Parts: sequence; structure tokens; C-alpha cells
Amino acid sequence: MELIDGKAVAAQIKQEIAAEVEQIVAAGGKRPHLAAILVGHDGGSETYVANKVKACEACGFKSSLIRYEADVTEEELLNKVEELNQDADVDGFIVQLPLPKHISEQKVIEAIDYRKDVDGFHPINVGRLNIGLPCYVSATPNGILELLSRYHIETSGKKCVVLGRSNIVGKPMASLMMRKATPGDATVTVCHSHSKDLVKECQEADIIIAAIGRPNFVTGDMVKEGAVVIDVGTTRVPDATKKSGFRLNGDVKFDEVAPKCSFITPVPGGVGPMTIVSLMKNTLLAGKKAIYK
Ligand code: NAP
Repeated sequence: MELIDGKAVAAQIKQEIAAEVEQIVAAGGKRPHLAAILVGHDGGSETYVANKVKACEACGFKSSLIRYEADVTEEELLNKVEELNQDADVDGFIVQLPLPKHISEQKVIEAIDYRKDVDGFHPINVGRLNIGLPCYVSATPNGILELLSRYHIETSGKKCVVLGRSNIVGKPMASLMMRKATPGDATVTVCHSHSKDLVKECQEADIIIAAIGRPNFVTGDMVKEGAVVIDVGTTRVPDATKKSGFRLNGDVKFDEVAPKCSFITPVPGGVGPMTIVSLMKNTLLAGKKAIYK
């Protein structure tokens, strides 16, 4: 069994990005600029955004954080989105989700200029992803592709089961695993809360990508010998031994499953660090105007 070290791969990619940024700047080019809008004070969102800002520093990017209280109006937020769309200095920006209930997330996502949508959530980027056109790929699935690629994991012709069908993980992941490319070319099955034969599907899978947010859902008996298991789940569970009072738990019962695997990602230190680095990769592409002019 080989442990997939997302933390180490992420650190290496950040170094690669930083080196490229310095070359761009030395040649008189523009330092990529990522802006982030954060609404309210949700603990998870605060941590994610702080980590994104830190990653920008490591990559040599300029970053801006725009904060609003939770009672900001939808109109005010949409005005800011439009301002960032027009701001020539901002190469890409994100609006950290979830948003308070009185604001339509879909409306906000669709207001973002798709050429600056480095989260890859705008319908134009989602559509282009699905028909194999260059686009901003959403961060978590893109990070998983990078791990599969850097660990030389064969995906062509393999049976891949994706657990979960969310717009940000499950669906784009399934689409990427079935695309005509490497990694890709897999036979993909997507399971969700209405799936009847989920256990059987997993037992037959060469690759399982679990993204449902149910701690320890994937147990040893669900995984065949030699399978590759990618654990996207990050659920906060109480843990008195931690200073924060909680730890992050994956969707996979690691102790049972790991001994059967050829490759497995840990939680934390697997998919999580790759998600942020994928956002950095998209920001570099935006800075270089590599996808859209
Ligand atoms: P989500 O929007 O809540 O979607 C969960 C999906 O899992 C849904 O499709 C749901 O089915 C399915 N599901 C839930 N319970 C199930 C069950 N018992 N059996 C079968 N399917 C079930 O979640 P998400 O945003 O995709 O995130 C999934 C997990 O990944 C969460 O733990 C999240 O924190 C984590 N995550 C981690 C990262 C990272 O960087 N590491 C990034 C994003 C997300 P229905 O569609 O039928 O409801």
C-alpha cells in the first residue's frame, strides 16, 4: 500500500508556481492577482479563506480579501462582483461558499465573469468542462487528477466509482474520469443517496472516489484488494485530544481500508491541500490569460 501524500505534492506545486511567477515578473509581466469575497464569520470558511491567502503568498501572487458581514444585501454583493469583473488588476476571484440564506448562490456564481471564475463554478466553465474544452476546472476534482497523474495511477479502462453527485465534487469528478484523456478514459459509475447497489458497485471498483461527507462510510468489506481509494470527505467530528476540540474525518474507514489498497489518500493531508493548490493553478492560468483572453 502506498500513501498518497497530498501535502508534499501541494508543497512542490506551490514551489513550481512561485518559480514561474518570478520568471514572469522578471520578464516584465504582471504578478497574478486573486481576490476573495468572504461573507460572515463561519469558522470553516474563515479557515479556508485564510489558507487561500497564505497559499497566494507562497506562490508569489497578489491577493485581496474583501469582507462583508452576514447581513450584506444580495444587491451589494452583486455590485462588488461586477466591480471585480471590471477591475483590470484582478485576474481571478472567488466568492467563498456557503452564503447566507437570503442571498442566491446561483445568482452570484452566474454574475461572475467566467473569464475570472477561477473556482470553475460558472455554467460556462462547467459546460466547457463537460465537452472537453479548455476551462477553469473546479479545484477539488482537479487536485485529484493531479494526484492520480503524479503517482502514475492508471485510469484508462478502469472501473471508477464516484460516491456523491454534488456540483463541486462528484459531478465534475465523474466527467473528468470519463473524458478522453490521461487521467481519464475510465468507466464511471456515480452513486448517491438513492443508489441501491452502492456496496456492490464499490466492491467491483478499481478506483473509489468518496465525496459524500459521511465519516467512515466506506468500510473494509466494500473495497477489493489492490483498489485505489481517494477520500474527499472532511467532516468535523468532536475530538477532546485536539486543541480545537475537533478533528477532520474522512468518508473512508482508513484502518480497515488502507491495508487492501494499492494507493490511498489520508485525511487530513490527502485531497485537502491539493484543492487549494488547484485554485492557485487556475489563478496562474488567469494571470497568464492562458484560457481566455
Ligand atoms: P454535498 O454537496 O453534501 O454532497 C454529498 C453527496 O453525497 C450527495 O450527492 C449525496 O447524495 C451523497 N450522499 C450523502 N449521503 C449519502 C449516503 N449515505 N449514501 C450515498 N450517497 C450519499 O457534499 P460535497 O460538497 O460534494 O462534499 C462532500 C464531502 O467532501 C464533504 O465531507 C466535504 O466537506 C468534503 N469536501 C472536501 C474538500 C477538500 O478539499 N478536501 C472539498 C470539497 C468538499 P444526494 O445527491 O442524493 O443527496
